[in-house]
Amino acid sequence: MAASASRGRSTSPRPGPELRPAGPPDPFTTIFTASPVPIGLCEDGLFIAVNPALCELFGRSEEELLGSSTVPFTHPDDLHVNRGIEGVLRAARQRGERAVQVEKRYLRPDGEVVWAWLTVTMVPGPNGEEWTLIHPQDVTARKVAELALRRSEANLAAVNLIARRVQAGQDPRPQVVDSARAVSGAVQALLLEPRGARTGDDGDEAGGPAVLVVTAASPAGTVGTRVALAGPSVSAGAYRSGELTLVPDGALDPRTAHDPDGVAGASALLCTPLTTRGVVSAVLLVCWDHPLPGPDDDDVRAVLQLADGAAAALEHARVVAELEASAVTDALTGLPNRRGWEEHLARLAAVCERDGEPLTVAVLDLDHFKAYNDAEGHLAGDRLLREVAQLVRGELRAGDVVARWGGEEFTLALPSCSAQDAHVLLERVRLAVRRARSCSTGFATRRPGEPPAALLRRADDALYAAKQAGRDRVLQALEP
Ligand code: GH3
Ligand code: MG
Ligand code: MG
Repeated sequence: MAASASRGRSTSPRPGPELRPAGPPDPFTTIFTASPVPIGLCEDGLFIAVNPALCELFGRSEEELLGSSTVPFTHPDDLHVNRGIEGVLRAARQRGERAVQVEKRYLRPDGEVVWAWLTVTMVPGPNGEEWTLIHPQDVTARKVAELALRRSEANLAAVNLIARRVQAGQDPRPQVVDSARAVSGAVQALLLEPRGARTGDDGDEAGGPAVLVVTAASPAGTVGTRVALAGPSVSAGAYRSGELTLVPDGALDPRTAHDPDGVAGASALLCTPLTTRGVVSAVLLVCWDHPLPGPDDDDVRAVLQLADGAAAALEHARVVAELEASAVTDALTGLPNRRGWEEHLARLAAVCERDGEPLTVAVLDLDHFKAYNDAEGHLAGDRLLREVAQLVRGELRAGDVVARWGGEEFTLALPSCSAQDAHVLLERVRLAVRRARSCSTGFATRRPGEPPAALLRRADDALYAAKQAGRDRVLQALEP
């Protein structure tokens, strides 16, 4: 009998074991040797005969196998199968069966993993010995395809979870980082997005974005962390270049010291830009606590697949947010429109009611604006409306609201503002607006339990009175 030492690598024939101590090979020995099916015969768990196909499957020579159990050739994660096989055989024997089947992995000397569907059959030896015939069928190809399918199903499910968040009108960002971690076995996933230069607040500012901010993190610790966009960090570099960056060891790469916490300690990290229509809108940074074999790794591919879905989801969420904002925003002045005003007023009325704070509402109307339009033209009228919006806004506090209620009428909501304070403030507003055009204002301070619509009506009545009284003035609503 001859055995080859590997699956097509070394083909040097070796002498096989003699199933019988002497004599010419019998027909069964010839079948055993020539069989393309891997077969091994064990006594007390140790090989006493192996055929060339088994040597090839294990990637071992016959000498290495004979006298050994399968333990040294078994994948470390499947040693429990070896430990349990005695019990499985005993149970089979009690049921009157002679064969059992199990699935397990072997590890070849080159590190290749072989999935086998193993049949173990109990056969009596010629002298009544308890022999077991093992017959591992190589199912690696099927198993790999099965795992790849399962993996791509998991990836698809992860992308679907992100899409579902968008459909439900929720922020997809937390799901993006949770899914990125889940599909890649990473220890950390961060989403970084550009933010404004001038004030460092959460809106893009004139002059271009200056920092990347962590807008979602899994685990959540680093949300809000900022990274200089012009700096040397891996994330900023990937954002600027739009190129995928794979770092084999975070500790050895000086750029990672400029990234958020945890990145420098990663054994491997990947930073991928999220791109829609050729524009980078964010970067996804994923960190592992074990080395990665390279860019073709399944975990890397899973992140890249997810990144495509995430980019689309973020873009979708941005468009939806823009649409929602435009539904409550006046296009000419950028102020809340009437619908936006109603939402603000209802919210402020509830807050002030709850906190026992006053709420003053004012209606401001430009004087003889029709005449201005007629004289200067509609475009000049539009410019004036924009200017008035800025002038009013410039006099208010952060929590105050000014909206364009209609044509040349603006409404103001002043929370925690008594009638007395409101009068002073609205006079200031009147003088500011006057730089563009005189205006008339009526205002009313909320009575306990008064509905917002009734409050606005009283302010509007006061405006009417201000117009009647000669315009260019501020009038408080009459108390009943
Ligand atoms: P009053 O002092 O009584 O308020 O006189 P008025 O002319 O301001 O009031 P009126 O209600 O007669 O006219 C309002 C004018 O506002 C009519 C219209 O030409 C102008 N207007 C309304 N919306 C716009 C707009 O979006 N752009 C421009 N340019 N003008 C507008
Ligand atoms: Mg007017
Ligand atoms: Mg008007």
